[in-house]
Amino acid sequence: MKDAKLVSKQSAGHKSTVRLNDRVTIGDREIIIVGGPCTVESHEQMDAVATQLQSSIQALRGGVYKPRTSPYAFQGMGVNGLDILSTVSQRHDLPIVTEVMAIHQIEEIAAQAHMLQVGSRNMQNFDLLKALGEVDKPVLLKRGLAATIEEFVMAAEYIVSHGNPNVVLCERGIRSFDNYTRNVLDLGAVAALRQITHLPIMVDPSHAAGKSELIADLSRAAIACGADGLIIECHPEPEKSVSDARQALSLAEMAALVTSLKPIAQAVGRDLCPPMAPAQPSSSPRHPAAEKPSEKQLVAA
Ligand code: PEP
Ligand code: MN
Repeated sequence: MKDAKLVSKQSAGHKSTVRLNDRVTIGDREIIIVGGPCTVESHEQMDAVATQLQSSIQALRGGVYKPRTSPYAFQGMGVNGLDILSTVSQRHDLPIVTEVMAIHQIEEIAAQAHMLQVGSRNMQNFDLLKALGEVDKPVLLKRGLAATIEEFVMAAEYIVSHGNPNVVLCERGIRSFDNYTRNVLDLGAVAALRQITHLPIMVDPSHAAGKSELIADLSRAAIACGADGLIIECHPEPEKSVSDARQALSLAEMAALVTSLKPIAQAVGRDLCPPMAPAQPSSSPRHPAAEKPSEKQLVAA
């Protein structure tokens, strides 16, 4: 990996950290938990996640532009979803991580989100990576569905070499012959990446496992293996998730999972972030029903 000039461990001499806001930094001693649904569906949904997980998570996730296998599946709420994320983020003081699928979406997403996710399907969309190099927001780069570790590292090098040093790598499982789990969580890659690069590393056990009952064990393993954070899908009513319902944890399961990580984190010289002070109880929804996905869209999903 001689071309990993900027992201290799030798190039920095120390581990780098990526700041989402004044309170949340990825790559320090404290482990960061990002939680939320696969897809933003309504204000009520996002507000329930933020309210109930305020003391468990440090950032909220939720896609508003969704890469779906089928063109007939719900494609995301777009700009209305961004407004929901932004409202809930401000009310609960939780930074937002959301996916950017195309160059033309960067400006509008960067105006509201704290971290821009590059999904697996776009890990080698080199024009998108170059454009994100010019953005003044951190990037969460997910490993491609069948990307080698070298290809993953070099994708990060694209973003950093185009001017944006704030990149976090995210292992989210890779394709294998066995479809019992949706993908195979490659913890070997996490161990290797810690030696190859100075960039912070997160793990997404949700898209790796694809089954909610496997996620707590994989989360604990990821922390034991040295991950700097986790990004996990959860939903107020998991079985009603518009996308990725099978892997969605309930909010109670999510809170219990986070509690169970503490002794693992401490065993490897890390800790969890201390809970934030509770937020104001939320008032009535600010977003009219018209902003929700239509019945037709939800059926199509
Ligand atoms: C997601 O985070 O919802 C997602 C689509 O992830 P990935 O790109 O890893 O499949
Ligand atoms: Mn998902």
